[in-house]
Amino acid sequence: AKQNGHNHFQFYVASIDQEIRERKQLEKDLSNALANHEFHLVYQPQINLETKRIIGAEALLRWEHPERGMIPPDHFIPVAESNGAIVEIGQWVLDQACWQAARWASEGSPLRIAVNLSAVQLRQESIVDDILNTLKRHNIPAGRLELEVTETSFMTNLSDAVAKLHRLHRAGISIAVDDFGTGYSSLTYLKQMPVQHLKIDKQFIRDLLVNEEDTRIANTIIDLGKSLNLTVVAEGVETAEQEYYLSQRGCKLAQGYFFSKPLPPKEFETFVHTFHAR
Ligand code: C2E
Ligand code: CA
Ligand code: CA
Ligand code: CA
Repeated sequence: AKQNGHNHFQFYVASIDQEIRERKQLEKDLSNALANHEFHLVYQPQINLETKRIIGAEALLRWEHPERGMIPPDHFIPVAESNGAIVEIGQWVLDQACWQAARWASEGSPLRIAVNLSAVQLRQESIVDDILNTLKRHNIPAGRLELEVTETSFMTNLSDAVAKLHRLHRAGISIAVDDFGTGYSSLTYLKQMPVQHLKIDKQFIRDLLVNEEDTRIANTIIDLGKSLNLTVVAEGVETAEQEYYLSQRGCKLAQGYFFSKPLPPKEFETFVHTFHAR
């Protein structure tokens, strides 16, 4: 038994050691990824359920690692957040998304672009100026940018986050609370925050018509949106039944594989044209 335990211990140490090495390697690769042009953005359409028009797109980051292939953002963004790399990467995302929005506008499709803003970015002293300067540089009206922030963004320094979001909102940028319902103290900050959109987290949409609890949570968020005059967006809509239910229930916007997965720019353009030509 003792021998066994010893082996276990060694195995344990070895695997932690390997985890640390892998993490270090990931951080190293991440620090070169921008310069090596390994990032690109894909765009997922957001649909107005009443008019069946595409009103905008969420920009989502993709990392094509030279050896390991596509690394999902859920895997590398937490690493980039913990070592601060997200600040530079996030600025690249914003810049790229605004460049794309300007192109689409010049081609006659002035779509709104939603960009995910990490809590770490929001904590940066210069973040408001950085965002406003980026809009200026690309000649994008502020009303065409939406920033998606999660509830955790408000937790470390509420008054600082409130002040910054107010400045962004006053400039004309709209703010969405992402993954709504998965964080804490939603009602307290909703009163103070200049937010216009609530995004129902996809975990509540997945089993929307199967799990009664999820149905009730989605209903509650839709009603909350109505009473606070916030637009509700459902993410992760995958079926016609979910789309029908949400639109009947009064949820105004939706995105998800039912309409389209996130697409590279050219494919996104084709999608918009065929969707509106139906
Ligand atoms: P998120 O912001 O909640 O984005 C929604 C995620 O759901 C995306 O995953 C999207 O591809 C996926 N999705 C869309 N429709 C469906 C559907 O119908 N069914 C299912 N099951 N999933 C769907 P993705 O692209 O892998 O991104 C994961 C997360 O990584 C994002 O979650 C966001 O938190 C983060 N992320 C992505 N891009 C950025 C970025 O540029 N900056 C920051 N800070 N975070 C980002
Ligand atoms: Ca998002
Ligand atoms: Ca989300
Ligand atoms: Ca998420």
